Amino acid sequence: MNTSLEDNYRHKGLRQQLVDQLRTKGITDEAVLAALNEVPRHIFLDSSFVELAYQDQAFPIGSGQTISQPHTVAFQTQLLQVEKGMKVLEIGTGSGYQACVLAAMGAKVFSIERQRNLFFKTKEILEQLPFRMKVFLGDGFEGLPMYAPFDRIIITAGAPRLPETLIQQLKTGGIMVIPMDNAESEGQTMLKITKLGDDTLKKEAFGDFKFVPMLKEIGND
Ligand code: SAH
Repeated sequence: MNTSLEDNYRHKGLRQQLVDQLRTKGITDEAVLAALNEVPRHIFLDSSFVELAYQDQAFPIGSGQTISQPHTVAFQTQLLQVEKGMKVLEIGTGSGYQACVLAAMGAKVFSIERQRNLFFKTKEILEQLPFRMKVFLGDGFEGLPMYAPFDRIIITAGAPRLPETLIQQLKTGGIMVIPMDNAESEGQTMLKITKLGDDTLKKEAFGDFKFVPMLKEIGND
């Protein structure tokens, strides 16, 4: 992690350029763009990456994991249609960047990470930032029954199937955004699932992406 929490004019300028770039790549939701403009992405990367933090690229964050590409974060967040005060569950805290973007939009964020080392490293940095949320070490396939139901659920790892438990923890009328493993390629198809009723789901596909896999159980691998 970047040891300095400094967010100077240069960082802010680079961030504005990134946001402009995302706009040209089709991100139109101004609330999403404003949140990306607010969250200092360089703080979530190792210091050697500060110069690159505002390029539209994914980066390694240790423990074999990555911080998602800004376009992917913006794209998933836009599909999620978050409104202030909504309860949002994220699976795959990773660096904590996506969770901060959701918090910046006024969501009540609950985020689960299965990698023990990454969880503690991220928790430490999140405590120093002005974005409030609850983070949990656990298996995202199980969700958080204690805090359910959620207005929105966002999965930020490649899911092998639609996790039934998480669908149960989604409110009726709620939206889940999930990159689901694609049978034909190594990547995932981005799905937006709207829960119309207990047994009625509306599924819409939004193109191909590449995520690290969603794995079961807590670990350090
Ligand atoms: N949202 C993150 C991107 C994380 S990459 C960010 O903004 O940086 C995906 C993350 O999902 C990894 O950290 C991985 O360890 C985690 N993950 C994979 N399977 C999981 C599971 N079953 N439960 C919780 N987290 C999981």
